[in-house]
Amino acid sequence: MDKLKIVLFMCNWGPHAAYQTLQDNGADIPAEVSMIRIPCTGRMSKSLLFKAFEMGADGVALLGCEPGSCRYGSGTAVAERNVDDTRGILDLLGLGGDRLRLAMFLPEESEPLLNFLQDFQKVIKTIGKSPVQPTLREEPAAVAKDAASRLLASHDIYACQDCGKCSSACPLALAGKPFSPRAMANAIIGGKIDSPEVVKDVWSCLTCGLCYDRCPSAVDFPEFIRDMRHLQKVCGQSGHEAHGGIFQSIMRTMTSPDLKIRHWEWLPKDIQTDPQSKVLFFGGCAPYFDTYFKNHLGIQTSDILTDSLRLLNFFDITPAVLNGERCCGHDLLWSGDHENFRKLAQLNVEAIEASGAEEVVTACPECYRTLAHDYPALGIELKFKVTHIYDLAEREIGKGAIGFEKMERRLTFQDPCRLSRLEGRPDLPRKLIDRLQPDGFTEMKDHGASALCCGNCAWTGCDSYTKTLQVNRLRQARETGSDLLVTACPKCQIHLKCAMEDPFLGDEIKMEIMDLTTVLAKTIRWE
Ligand code: SF4
Ligand code: SF4
Ligand code: SF4
Repeated sequence: MDKLKIVLFMCNWGPHAAYQTLQDNGADIPAEVSMIRIPCTGRMSKSLLFKAFEMGADGVALLGCEPGSCRYGSGTAVAERNVDDTRGILDLLGLGGDRLRLAMFLPEESEPLLNFLQDFQKVIKTIGKSPVQPTLREEPAAVAKDAASRLLASHDIYACQDCGKCSSACPLALAGKPFSPRAMANAIIGGKIDSPEVVKDVWSCLTCGLCYDRCPSAVDFPEFIRDMRHLQKVCGQSGHEAHGGIFQSIMRTMTSPDLKIRHWEWLPKDIQTDPQSKVLFFGGCAPYFDTYFKNHLGIQTSDILTDSLRLLNFFDITPAVLNGERCCGHDLLWSGDHENFRKLAQLNVEAIEASGAEEVVTACPECYRTLAHDYPALGIELKFKVTHIYDLAEREIGKGAIGFEKMERRLTFQDPCRLSRLEGRPDLPRKLIDRLQPDGFTEMKDHGASALCCGNCAWTGCDSYTKTLQVNRLRQARETGSDLLVTACPKCQIHLKCAMEDPFLGDEIKMEIMDLTTVLAKTIRWE
């Protein structure tokens, strides 16, 4: 067995003095331990803690000061929350939360520190080597001008008429950001592909597709941006990834074939699944989002998965689920990591085909788009059909004898960009909404193919302008006079709820949010 790797992130104040005493006395510190000195445990974000595991650590200990003795006040409390959430993510990935520990030591507690290190080493030896294979970065290449020209040609950017319709529709530009897709296209055509402005703009774009919808030359800006990000990544130019890039990190980690992912262990007992079923439900990453945001936004996007499964059971379908389900790879693809996206696609398709499923149903617009459209675009031939759960629900409800309970709520609806624009299916959720029995349904000012984005895509480029966009969107929702904002994507729910946390706007933009699958599952009935 390769040598274990145990990383200690050690606060400069309390525990470091104790560690120094151990070193000075030649104590028997386990040889597997590598120590990194940090200013405060509260500075170790979840993304940094997780990064150590992505890079192949077998165990990580965060060592700090007792609550009340932190020199920065809240460091220990922040560390407790970060470690708790990161352990949850390690559990979901099947790595085991026990690989991460938080402990506190006073400067004079060198003996207890030594005992802790020796005990932790034994625990990690018992758990064993991590199955994570670090995804090594290759040396960055120089920007190849011919690669850029090929991209411009393959995405028809030369067809741009310079009319500016894209810039006047772009929600980022409308939120006040000095940003113009037209100007970016011109700059890239003009050879400024690696200028700092172009690099920044490429990572700011929401890939929401509003510009594509308006462009008279059908310039597919979102796909161009996606492939530009890949080119920039190859050249070592990464953009801003939200939350320290932890979601991309988790997705890259999932490319390790030997991981024993525990994607569905949390599923409530009333849900019926059948591993032999020809219908497989593909859930998506909601459990990771809920775990990450547990101590912050208090979201529960896993309800989308549970309620989708309840709906399938209601329709007398007992689907299979993949215990080792991996991320579909949407966010890696759209943040330029085509290599790891390809690995995830391959692993998912192999697992789905091994299950014997003939139809894969999903409720996530990103999973749907990725499985149905982007996997075949990679050249992967699917031996199964991909269905959005709204299509399946329409199909089943169309058979008759199904109605909906009256809802004393007034609804409005947030379109997900992937379904309503990129897949061109704004009708799909609306057919179902039309069947509901609410007190009212009012569209927002911008809706359907013209809807405003929720302000973030693929966890890139979150900033004060995207916040303005989200606030504008929530104001549009409030202006409808509705009391329930129905969504159709876990990420819309997360980003809009995040915007509602603004302490300066108070209740002005707050509104209850519920996914359409939950609305359907709560109200559907046999007639
Ligand atoms: S809308 Fe299309 S043609 Fe007009 S400036 Fe934008 S990319 Fe060019
Ligand atoms: S995809 Fe959306 S954010 Fe990006 S340039 Fe087009 S309209 Fe603007
Ligand atoms: S809007 Fe909030 S949840 Fe979404 S990426 Fe930005 S900070 Fe994260």
